Amino acid sequence: MDSALIEKNARRILAALPPGVKLVAAAKTRTPEEVAVAARAGVTCFGQNYVQEAENVITAVGHQIEWHMIGHLQRNKVKKAIPLFDMIETVDSWRLAAALDKHCAEIGKIMPVLVEINSGREARKTGVLPEEVDDLVHRLSELPSIRVEGLMTMGPRFGDPEDARPYFRATRTAFERLAALNLPNIVMKTLSMGMSNSYLVAIEEGANMVRIGSLLFGPRNE
Ligand SMILES: *Cc1c(COP(=O)(O)O)cnc(C)c1O
Repeated sequence: MDSALIEKNARRILAALPPGVKLVAAAKTRTPEEVAVAARAGVTCFGQNYVQEAENVITAVGHQIEWHMIGHLQRNKVKKAIPLFDMIETVDSWRLAAALDKHCAEIGKIMPVLVEINSGREARKTGVLPEEVDDLVHRLSELPSIRVEGLMTMGPRFGDPEDARPYFRATRTAFERLAALNLPNIVMKTLSMGMSNSYLVAIEEGANMVRIGSLLFGPRNE
C-alpha cells in the first residue's frame, strides 16, 4: 500500500487508542518497506505469524522495534524463533512452553509470553481451552526462562464485533482471576485481544494490547 496512506492510518490509530493500550501492528504479508513506514509514523511493536517470514522481515528492518510472535508456533521452529522475538503471544501447551524454556535457558534469555486462549472453543483454532488455562498457567510458573505476562485471544470472527464481546469478557475474567492468585514468576499485566474490526469492543472489555493489520496496512491479498 501507498506509504502516505500507511502513515496516515498509523497516526490515526495511535491517536485513537486510550493511554495504556499498546498497538501491535499485525504485519503478515507486509514488506519491510511497509513496516518501516509504520515504524517511522510511531508504531513501536509489530506482530508476525510465521517464523520464516519473520526472519526475512526482521533481518531487513532490525531490532530497534519490538517483535511479537502472534501466529501458532511449532515446536520445531522454537529455536529459530527465540532470538527473533521479544514476546511470544501464542503459548498454548506445556510442551511448547517447555521447549521455549529449554532453548531460552541455553542462550540466557528470559522470554515474555502470553498464554493464548481459544475463547470460542473453535475446533480449528489454536489456544488452550478456557477450562484448561488455570492449570497451564500454574505449571508455567515453574519454568524459569519464560515469564508469563498475560493472556491473548483471537475469539471467533464476526461481521458484527458486538458478537465478539462475550468472548473478550470471558478472557478478561480469566485474566483477573489469574492475576489475583499472585503466582510466582508470573506477572499478569497484558491482555491482548481485538483486531481491526473488533479492537474498540476489546478495549471496552479490558484489552490493553490490540493487534491491528488491515486497518493500518490496507486489505491483505489472501
Ligand atoms: C492477522 C492477525 C491480526 C490482525 O488482523 P486484521 O483483521 O488484519 O486486523 C491479529 N491477530 C492475529 C493473530 C493475526 O494473525
